[in-house]
Amino acid sequence: MRAIIVGASHAGAQLCASLRQEGWDGEILVIGDEPTLPYHRPPLSKTYLAGKSSLDELLIRPSDFYSKKDIAFRHARVASIDREARSLTLSDGEKVSYDKLALCLGARPRTLSLTGTELEGVHYLRDAADIEAIRGGVEGARHVVIIGAGYIGLEAAASLRKLGIGVTVLESADRVLQRVTAPEVSAFYTRVHREEGVDIRTGIEISAIEGEDKVRGVRLADGELIEADLVIIGIGIVPNTELAEAAGLAVDDGIIIDDHALTDDPDIVAAGDCTSHFMPRYERRLRLESVPSAGEQAKVAAATLCGKDKSVTALPWFWSDQYELKLQIAGLNEGYDSVVLRGDPESGRSFTCFYFKGDELIAADCVNRPQEFMFSRRVIGDRIPVDPNQLADPENAINELLKAALASKT
Ligand SMILES: Cc1cc2nc3c(=O)[nH]c(=O)nc-3n(C[C@H](O)[C@H](O)[C@H](O)COP(=O)(O)OP(=O)(O)OC[C@H]3O[C@@H](n4cnc5c(N)ncnc54)[C@H](O)[C@@H]3O)c2cc1C
Repeated sequence: MRAIIVGASHAGAQLCASLRQEGWDGEILVIGDEPTLPYHRPPLSKTYLAGKSSLDELLIRPSDFYSKKDIAFRHARVASIDREARSLTLSDGEKVSYDKLALCLGARPRTLSLTGTELEGVHYLRDAADIEAIRGGVEGARHVVIIGAGYIGLEAAASLRKLGIGVTVLESADRVLQRVTAPEVSAFYTRVHREEGVDIRTGIEISAIEGEDKVRGVRLADGELIEADLVIIGIGIVPNTELAEAAGLAVDDGIIIDDHALTDDPDIVAAGDCTSHFMPRYERRLRLESVPSAGEQAKVAAATLCGKDKSVTALPWFWSDQYELKLQIAGLNEGYDSVVLRGDPESGRSFTCFYFKGDELIAADCVNRPQEFMFSRRVIGDRIPVDPNQLADPENAINELLKAALASKT
């Protein structure tokens, strides 16, 4: 029996390890089109961009882990899947057969349709090769323009400021992180970045990226040219679903999987950024873009391939590091109707923004507040009632609030 995993990153690395843990004793082959073993992607915009870690230090597991577990790797691109023949065709035409297949195809950067994106010095930010190209250009660079003020754009801004480079962030929305946080959290990050010397501009329309062969700057719709030696584009991602779609699997903004990470083919599972999964808590299908979710889905997918009954149930969570700020996010804030702040986001660098829907705590953004993050994961995950007024009062110790909340539940 041969299991093939396509995609060698967070989901793929977890899935091959979990297959062995779950008792798969057949062949395991991981096929990935990046030229390395799976590495941690989050540090790319953080320590790796800042030049503080090497790619070897980012490896999820050392190579001898895989050899000891008899897990083989192949650096190649899978071009198509023949489900009837249970075989894959690689981009060089070679065919490889499988008994069970796992798709961990991830996502790629959303591209910007503007003139000038092809110029030397314009980069997207998804894999180690992107960062190596950016790092090559950073030497001697004086000013970088980042297009997009999502987490990745802001993390890149923080890393480049640490290198002493001038940074302008351009965002078309009215505020940074608009898609994912409350206005209070956006205002906090805008303030901190400005304090660190980043030129943050929101509500911006860009007309072109300019230069001869190499980028010279970004032209705004009002005519201003912001000079730049480098431009980094971080405007979101699109899931890699084409392979699955061409093979006739159900796809809708992600490869559709059930609670067991199974696609609509009983021999094919999928996990990670490329999947779309119905989550009862949110009453709809969601495609999560996070390491914890990729890891959980991969564990479940491995169990499924081994004939075991595990389900994807965890509360979504995420993190982002910028400067000395560690943001930890529990739950998704969609549909919130009020927020409660603990700490003051208008001064200092530590607070939590709790999101409520009616009287239920549904999500929390915790900045340098690990205890409140643990509290939130527990309370939101188990739907434990909490009193917003008590939460807002910093005199109430968070562990006491948890005890009280747990007591009121029983
Ligand atoms: C710069 C950056 C910072 C991030 N920071 C955070 C963070 O702080 N916290 C967090 O939770 N998440 C973060 N994320 C998101 C996180 O990295 C992703 O959620 C995670 O990588 C998803 O893992 P995955 O295995 O599903 O997909 P990916 O990591 O995208 O890996 C998919 C792999 O499959 C390969 N592949 C695709 N198609 C084929 C094919 N046909 N043949 C062979 N190989 C193929 C791809 O090249 C890639 O190597 C960050 C992402 C980036 C880019």
